[in-house]
Amino acid sequence: MSSLDLLKSYTVEKPQPLIGAKTIQILMMREILDYTVLRTEETRELNTVATPLSLKNGDVTTMRVAFLATKQKAAESRKLEQMLRTATEDARMDITECFLKDNLCLECPRCALFGATSTESGRQNRANIKHRIAYSTAFSLLPFEEIESSTTFNAINDRNQTTGQALGTRYAVVPATVFPSIVSLRSVTLTEFVLSIKTLLACKSYGAESRIGGDVRNSVFGIIGGWEEVITPLELTLELYEQQDNLSGETFKTIAEKYRPMTGNPDHITIFSPEQVDQVIKEATEIPLDKSLLEQSYKDVGEYVSEQQKK
Ligand SMILES: [Zn+2]
Repeated sequence: MSSLDLLKSYTVEKPQPLIGAKTIQILMMREILDYTVLRTEETRELNTVATPLSLKNGDVTTMRVAFLATKQKAAESRKLEQMLRTATEDARMDITECFLKDNLCLECPRCALFGATSTESGRQNRANIKHRIAYSTAFSLLPFEEIESSTTFNAINDRNQTTGQALGTRYAVVPATVFPSIVSLRSVTLTEFVLSIKTLLACKSYGAESRIGGDVRNSVFGIIGGWEEVITPLELTLELYEQQDNLSGETFKTIAEKYRPMTGNPDHITIFSPEQVDQVIKEATEIPLDKSLLEQSYKDVGEYVSEQQKK
């Protein structure tokens, strides 16, 4: 039996505009491998947020760096777009061009999974596609003061391109900073799960806007199938903080089990063992992005769209 069959109860045969409760949570560590600026555009400060230190130390507040959901989603959506472009070229398929953010095709597996809004330059008469991959902000495992670095630089005067006296400070997180993170898939097909895994593992750059650093490696530590989301990234960070010397798949599983009794449908939850997780990831990555898989995926999206137009 294929390990991917374990996901059967939590996937659908075909993508549908009306979604059900089937949910797959992919639990990851996002490890920063270069000095990376995690900030919003306007300020030079890192995005920080006050959180409890850990579950046991709920009264102690600490600042953590936030890896915003929008930043994760933007990089990963772009990565899937790039993979599909190359794979369809490789398979000599003739597909509509699709690129962020004003020329989404509403015909490809990326648009179907990440959602797409029809735009002026795109197809005005189409209904929007609702996303079925969901992101949440990830919180650094360690407090801000342990992972932050600041460098001072000569700010360049924009008007005459000279280096003035004004010094600027750039704040970044140091390499080896980890962010426990969860991506949730809702009512996806097995092929869409496979595409998601390939995307998460292939995506290694999150600093496009800042052009500084941004190298990241995503590693999958856990998979949970259910009729709902079982755990949130903040809970995962607070739990793992207490287990930081033992960041293994087994630890992730033990933590997830703790949250099962708090769910609405505990009888419909499967928490994968570390061996099952490894096997599922291995099988998913070994499935080639070849012509038959791509043609089926694009056909599924075509049927999704015509289904939606009937409604
Ligand atoms: Zn598209």
